[in-house]
Amino acid sequence: MIEFANAGAAVGATPATLEKTRILGAYFRSLDEADLRRAAVYMSGRAFPPSQRRTLGLGWQTLSKVISSISSRDEEDLGALFRKHADLGDWAGEAVDGATQPAPVKLADVEATLEAIRSARGNAKAAPLEAMVRRMDPASTRFFIKIISGEMRIGLSEGLVEAAIAEAFDVPITQVKRVHLVTGDIGETAVRCKRGEFEASKITLFQPVRFMLASPVEAPEEAFTRMGAESVWTEEKYDGVRCQMHREGERVELFSRDLKETTGAFPELVEGAKTMGHDVLFDGEVLAHRDGRVLRFFELQHRLGRKKVDDELRRDVPVVLVIFDLLWLDGRTLLDEPLTERRKLLEGLGLEHPFLLARLEEATGPEHLDRVFKETRERGNEGLMVKDPLSPYTPGRRGLAWLKLKRPLATLDVVVTAVEWGHGKRRGVLSDYTFAVKDTRSGKLVNVGKAYTGLTDAEIAEFTKRFLEMTIEDQGFRRMVRPEVVLEVAFDSIQHSGRHMSGYALRFPRIVRIRDDKPVEEIDTLARVAELYDRYFGEKSEVALSEVAET
Ligand code: AMP
Repeated sequence: MIEFANAGAAVGATPATLEKTRILGAYFRSLDEADLRRAAVYMSGRAFPPSQRRTLGLGWQTLSKVISSISSRDEEDLGALFRKHADLGDWAGEAVDGATQPAPVKLADVEATLEAIRSARGNAKAAPLEAMVRRMDPASTRFFIKIISGEMRIGLSEGLVEAAIAEAFDVPITQVKRVHLVTGDIGETAVRCKRGEFEASKITLFQPVRFMLASPVEAPEEAFTRMGAESVWTEEKYDGVRCQMHREGERVELFSRDLKETTGAFPELVEGAKTMGHDVLFDGEVLAHRDGRVLRFFELQHRLGRKKVDDELRRDVPVVLVIFDLLWLDGRTLLDEPLTERRKLLEGLGLEHPFLLARLEEATGPEHLDRVFKETRERGNEGLMVKDPLSPYTPGRRGLAWLKLKRPLATLDVVVTAVEWGHGKRRGVLSDYTFAVKDTRSGKLVNVGKAYTGLTDAEIAEFTKRFLEMTIEDQGFRRMVRPEVVLEVAFDSIQHSGRHMSGYALRFPRIVRIRDDKPVEEIDTLARVAELYDRYFGEKSEVALSEVAET
C-alpha cells in the first residue's frame, strides 16, 4: 500500500499530465496481475470495479468518528485540520500521524478490508475500518481514505489511468480505450493490456458492454454521404428503453443504457430467456406491448426503476424486447462481425415471444430512404435508424455506422405567453419561452410547449429587453408577457399532456424563425395541433407500431 500511496502522492505533486502518466505507468509496470487489477481500480477513485456493482455503504459520519477515535488530537484541533485540507483523505492522513502502529499492508489486505466493510451491517462497518487504519502509516491512510470516499483529488481522471496503462505496457491508447469500452472495467482492462490480449475485444458475459450510439442526421442524402455506403439498412426507431440482455443457462441479467442492472423490472424477459436454446448477449429496446400492440412510452414508465413487479402490473403493462443486435453467441464474441452476419445469426435463433426482431428494410438510395422514412412516420414513429450493413459493433461509440434520421414533424406559428430566466451560460437573460396557439372555440390562447433553443445570443439579449418591457406579471423566476411575439417552432412529436390547458405538449420544440411579420391573430390553432396529433399519434398508430417483424 505504501507504494500505491507514494505513486499517488507523486502524481498529485505534479500538474503536468505527461509526468502524471509516466509516474503512474512506471508504478503499474512494477505490479503483478492481481495488484495491477486492484491498483487501476483504486487509482480511479473506486473501492470496487463497476462490474461488481458493489457499494461500501459507509457514511461520512462513521468514517470521521473512526479517524477521530484513533487520532490523539482533540475535536477542535481536528476541526481546524479539516478546514485546512477540505479533503477527507488528506485530513485523515495528518489526523492519525503518530497514533498508529504501522505494519506492512498489501493491496490484497486493502481489498479484504473493503469487502469486510461492505458486507458488515450498520455500526459493525467501523471495526474493520479501524483495525486497518491502526496498521497503516499516515501516507497509506491518506490514500486508503481517498479510495473509500471515492475521490482521489490528485488530478487523475479515468482517462489518465487509461493513458498510464498505455504507457506501462506500450500499447496504443486507442487500443486501451477499446478494451475498456468492452470490459467496462479499468482493472480488467489493465490486466488484458499487460497480457497483450487484444483481440480481447472478447466479451465477458455479465459485465455490461457500453452501448453503440447513433449520430443524428436530418436528410436522407446526408445519411448516404456521411455513411459512404451504396445501400443502407433501416430499422424502426422504437420509443422504449434501451436494454442489454446477458443470458447463460439459468442466469439472466439486464442492463439499462447507463449500464445499471434492471433485471428485476422485467421478469417476463428473464423467464423467456431461460427457455431459449442459446447463451446470448442481445442489444435491443424494451417496449410495453399488449394484445399485439405497442403501448405508449407513458405506460412503459410504470415498469421502469422497479426491483420487483407484481402480477397485476405484469398483466396491465406487459413488456417485450425488440432485439436489433447480437454481440455474443454461445461463447463467441461477434463485435467484429459485420451487421449482416450478426443479423443472420440473430434470425437463426428462432426467437419467440417476448422476443421480437426489429423491423428491417434495405434502402438503395436517398429517394428510397425518404420513402421508408415517410412510411415509418405514418406508422407513428418519430424517426428511423439507418445502419451500415457492413459495420462492426463499436461499443460506446457515436460514429457514422449508425445514424438516426429525424425530421421535424411540422412547424407551427405560436405566440410567447411567458418567459423564464435562464441558467448557467444563460443566467441573467430571459431565454426560456412558453408559447401558445389559439383555441378558436373559446377565443383564448392555450399553451402547448416551451422552447429554449434556436436563437442566437444576440437575439436572446434583444428579446430580454423586449420582454422586460412587455411584462404583465412578474413571478420572480418567470414573467407573464403580453402575447405579441410570434415565433415559428419546429418539433418532432406531440404528446397528450396534463401540464398544459390545451391538453397537448410539443416534444423537442425549437425556434426556427422570429415572425415579426405575422400578426398574433394569424397564429396556428389548437385544432391544427389536434389534427397533427390524430394523424401521426392517434389510435391508428398504436396498431401500426406493432408491425414488429415476428419471427
Ligand atoms: P437517441 O436516444 O435519440 O440518441 O436515439 C438512440 C436510441 O434509440 C437508442 O439508444 C435506442 O434506445 C433507441 N432505438 C430504438 N430503435 C432502435 C434501433 N432499431 N436500433 C438502435 N437503437 C434504437
